[in-house]
Amino acid sequence: MKYIFLTGGVVSSLGKGLTAASLGTLLEARGLKVALQKFDPYLNVDPGTMSPFQHGEVYVLDDGAETDLDLGHYERFTHSELTQFNNLTSGRVYQTVLEKERRGDYLGKTVQVIPHVTDEIKQRVKEVGEQSGADVVITEIGGTTGDIEGLPFLEAIREFALECGRGNSIFVHVTYVPYIRAAGELKTKPTQQSVAKLREIGIVPDILVCRTEKPINEEMRQKISLFCNVPVDGVIEEIDVEHSIYEVPLMLQREKMDALVCQELGLETSPADMSEWEAVIQRIIKPQHQVRIGVIGKYIHLQDAYKSVYEAVTHAGGANDCAIEIVRVDSEDIERDGAAAHLADMDGILVPGGFGERGVEGKVLAAQYARENNVPYLGLCLGMQIACIEFARHALGLDGAHSAEFDAQTPHPIIALLDEQQNITDMGGTMRLGAQACALTPGSKAAELYGTEEINERHRHRYEFNNAYREQFEAQDFVFSGTSPDGNLVELIELKNHPYFMATQAHPEFKSKPVQAHPLFAGFIKAAHERANGN
Ligand code: GLN
Repeated sequence: MKYIFLTGGVVSSLGKGLTAASLGTLLEARGLKVALQKFDPYLNVDPGTMSPFQHGEVYVLDDGAETDLDLGHYERFTHSELTQFNNLTSGRVYQTVLEKERRGDYLGKTVQVIPHVTDEIKQRVKEVGEQSGADVVITEIGGTTGDIEGLPFLEAIREFALECGRGNSIFVHVTYVPYIRAAGELKTKPTQQSVAKLREIGIVPDILVCRTEKPINEEMRQKISLFCNVPVDGVIEEIDVEHSIYEVPLMLQREKMDALVCQELGLETSPADMSEWEAVIQRIIKPQHQVRIGVIGKYIHLQDAYKSVYEAVTHAGGANDCAIEIVRVDSEDIERDGAAAHLADMDGILVPGGFGERGVEGKVLAAQYARENNVPYLGLCLGMQIACIEFARHALGLDGAHSAEFDAQTPHPIIALLDEQQNITDMGGTMRLGAQACALTPGSKAAELYGTEEINERHRHRYEFNNAYREQFEAQDFVFSGTSPDGNLVELIELKNHPYFMATQAHPEFKSKPVQAHPLFAGFIKAAHERANGN
């Protein structure tokens, strides 16, 4: 088994996760099986308890693990099968070590960062490799070189590389080469310093991926090579992509990064066949048509809060030959100005998941606008709950209808706490999480789109549709088009006599891929396209 360790230098937000995922794409296209994993040095046991302001989106896996959003890139770019073991935080490491200490597993020893914490980290690299049966394990270390909290991880991968023997592992350092406008120059000093920092702890990078906004010329490559002690063909330029993040693998291929990685690891393969990937990208970046989609949320100012949603919409655009203009609308602006002021130009309205009361009324107005004006609507998790509240208030006349999450005293708790949640007090990892089966109603739009009547989608919620109200809804144009197999939990709803009004309690965005747009998103964009451009 071969191992690639990916670290980051100079600044955060360099797209390390994208780089790791793109390398995975290329290695798979060479016929190799890859496994990807992410180490996060913070002390939260998982990111599930963190606000999107802190952390961006929480990505959910089939097994219910709440993980870093980089795992979303891994799944979208590769076939790597991910479980809770593919994301490890310092918090989880310490939790495990301390449990062992309490059990007496350390047999009277002093428990220390080296070797006990580092052993735990190394063990995880080994386990992910063994369980996946992969040819190559790509491990991304979160944070930036020089962070105090990252040190045990760096020490662990240094030891790991030593122990697995020469030629079996490489270090890739993703760094930043800033362009200083006033000087008209790219600067290599931060990269030199970051590499020096790594060398201090005994890690010598084999490959430097240089994130830059301007091309790195030959002279610059020579300079980076010399000062950073990396062969010149190991200096890889990763320039900002023009159109789409899905171009990154092709860019790295042009830089011959995959060939170099295989050479260094002694992996003999044929060149990467990227023809299918290229075809997908062409559809994404050169579409015939255009649609405008309003995404209504309270974290719309954050780049990463609805990451998978934006990606899934992009994939659906590719599938429908449409460029997507995503208009991020703050739900509180709708509360202030009314829905028409912000949504009149939209071809589709999407309300993603969320927690907490702020901005909820704006989302209700957005759902009402979509329903009454025949604008395609897609509701995800909270977006489904919102659609139900809106329908109850305005179509069924149930004044004050609400979710018990936002109004404990509501006369009509259309959305109520799941039974299984009644006695839960801990916040971490206790929602209804991960893949849940769902039976679709024959003849529904959802069944038509999925092309099957049994589906599985990922979840992350505490509240559900209140079954006491089902009959009232069903008497109208409202269709419960998917439920848990026992019929108990409402999973999908849609409206009759509307071009496309679909909402799900699940998070289908987590299962959309560029090569395979998700049916609910594809159907949504198709309807938006029909609205915008006619049939
Ligand atoms: N806050 C809602 C719930 O807990 C919706 C969650 C979500 O959108 N992920 O049920």
